[in-house]
Amino acid sequence: MSNNWKPMLLATAVVATVALLVIGNMSSRAGSAKAADPNPLLSEWTGPFGGLPPFDQVKVEYFKPALEAAMAENLTEIDKIANDSAPPTFENTIVALEKAGQTLDRVGTVYAVWQSTMSSPDFQVVQREMAPKLAAFSDKITQNEKLFNRIETVYNSPEKKKLNGEQQRLVWLDYTNFVRSGAKLDAKSKARLTEINQQLATLFTKFSNNVLWEEGNQFVQIKNEADLAGLPPSVRDAAAAAAAEKKQEGWLIINTRSSVEPFLTFSDRRDLREKVWRMFIMRGDNGDEHDNNATITQILQLRAERAKLLGYQTHAHWRVENQMAKTPERAMDLMMAVWKPAVQRVHEEVADMQALVAKEGATFQIAPWDYRYYMERVRKAKYDLDQNEVKPYLQLDKLREAIHWVAGELFNFKFTPAPNVPVAHPDIKVWEVSDKTTGKHIGLWYFDPFARPGKRSGAWMNAYRSQERVNGEITTIVSNNANFVKGKPGEPLLISWDDASTMFHEFGHALHGLNSNVTYPSLSGTAVARDYVEFPSQLMEHWLSTPQVLQKFALHYQTGKPIPQELVDKINRTKTFNQGFATVEYLAAAILDMKLHLVGDKKIDARQFEKEALAEIGMPKEIVLRHRLPHFLHVFSSDSYSAGYYSYLWSDVLTADAFGAFTEAGGPYDRKVADRLRKSIFSVGNTIDPAEAYRNFRGRDPKVEALMKKRGFSS
Ligand SMILES: [Zn+2]
Repeated sequence: MSNNWKPMLLATAVVATVALLVIGNMSSRAGSAKAADPNPLLSEWTGPFGGLPPFDQVKVEYFKPALEAAMAENLTEIDKIANDSAPPTFENTIVALEKAGQTLDRVGTVYAVWQSTMSSPDFQVVQREMAPKLAAFSDKITQNEKLFNRIETVYNSPEKKKLNGEQQRLVWLDYTNFVRSGAKLDAKSKARLTEINQQLATLFTKFSNNVLWEEGNQFVQIKNEADLAGLPPSVRDAAAAAAAEKKQEGWLIINTRSSVEPFLTFSDRRDLREKVWRMFIMRGDNGDEHDNNATITQILQLRAERAKLLGYQTHAHWRVENQMAKTPERAMDLMMAVWKPAVQRVHEEVADMQALVAKEGATFQIAPWDYRYYMERVRKAKYDLDQNEVKPYLQLDKLREAIHWVAGELFNFKFTPAPNVPVAHPDIKVWEVSDKTTGKHIGLWYFDPFARPGKRSGAWMNAYRSQERVNGEITTIVSNNANFVKGKPGEPLLISWDDASTMFHEFGHALHGLNSNVTYPSLSGTAVARDYVEFPSQLMEHWLSTPQVLQKFALHYQTGKPIPQELVDKINRTKTFNQGFATVEYLAAAILDMKLHLVGDKKIDARQFEKEALAEIGMPKEIVLRHRLPHFLHVFSSDSYSAGYYSYLWSDVLTADAFGAFTEAGGPYDRKVADRLRKSIFSVGNTIDPAEAYRNFRGRDPKVEALMKKRGFSS
């Protein structure tokens, strides 16, 4: 598992939409439910810390009326701003928009949590109905001509120069977002655009629910204990727990990444590895009612049509224009520069594996279902490092303490359990964040670590309430979510090195939110360019392997002793091991994503496209895409990472280069560099151009050499 790429910042559709548009001063209660049946989702958040999301009061039937009432209320607010008789100003237009939509923001936050972590069949019925309605709602705002004219007037006004930098950036962002969403189109094109957006919203929902269904309902069942050969106890226990939960005999390998990858890594049974691998890579591609191929074709057609309507050559050009990369070509150039050395490295890795196969007296060629397994064997043979030797030192609870400690060292944060905060599920725990020195309250951090039915796979961060000052002092609320398989009751849960790294990654997103120090909600925390947002999170991964963290927190679950230096040395020696596989698996998917969205309106057959595009770039036959198209959720569950999966690589150029600032100074805990990191990167949100923010931190533009070195490639 390549932790660098798997985790994503899940900006769920409704949250992203609301964040983009945030509209409306929330004094009226236009949409409140009838007095006889108060809908808690519509109420102001109450309780400590300036009010908390009412996760303990949610019923699925509340969502539709709450969303409809909140949307109606928001449209009333918009009309008021649009029809203001006073001439447009920054205050009465731009700031008014920042203050609007608070009810919808609150409802949308809870809705997004259910969508990603509590998606029951009855919830999915609501989701299917609401997805196109939410899309149409967004369009109603961006297509409001009077509103756009006011924004445009402020944007072109000579008064703009008198605003401060953050304010000018907000005006620019609003104007740009409206234009990019079709504000300047004629009535006929606007009507077609909103049809397209609604159809897309429906198709996105269909696509993701198909994947969710296959991941939750498909499995390979093992009935004989002998067939578990090679699997470590933790993997066996998880498979037994999965069988018990589904009331099945024996052991189940569920069709999710957290279940499949450990099996492929450790199972001695080549035939079973192939069977599990085939199940996993065929998600959404089985020619049945959950097949996503036709949906992909439709999504791509609609995206191409929309891009043309908006005046862009392709969907990729439209998506990348407002990112750090600016053009698909620049993103593609970086990807292809890394692609060549990565493929070269794969050939070397395969040669090592093939030698091992020969040594064992076998004659088969390494196949994709062998890669993870032989990679582990080579790791042992070449570096004398066994992942199962490391795992006893990686306790989930201790690593949670570790990330809190690192936040204390770098940003002076203190984490205190907040046990009485309402949660959506009993597994979720909450901490209060405050300043270590002054005790000043900063925010709340929710941690939802375990897999459960209805929760999407992977790991991600969510902002429940973003830092800002327009609406007075508020508590910043963020969450980290993961899919660890629960261990035996009463025993500490042990996780892999990659999973530990993912924890640091997602916590990096959380720290990006918690450190935010801006005025306007639209510019807050993680609301930055897609190809920049993974920079703070990927950067945090570097602190896992610092000696300070390992000595204090990588403690053996039985003896309590810290991980021996000898083992740490071995881990450090393997840092560039297997980077060929990790890079190629990810990068091939990122290249395909970009190529797909550069095609234009030619009708695409996903299977054929995948085959031809991979042949064209020289995909090594021993590796399959990290996400094949029929289950590529980043790209087809919303627009947000479409033509944007390259973002992880783009951000990693910054990450690798930025960490150099610490190593060149006094090391990873250097106070001066940490202060500069907070001041220039973690606290500024989207108030300045990311390239400029980076220069403020590093004193120069990023260089790609550090990335090549980090992965052990010669550039
Ligand atoms: Zn991320």
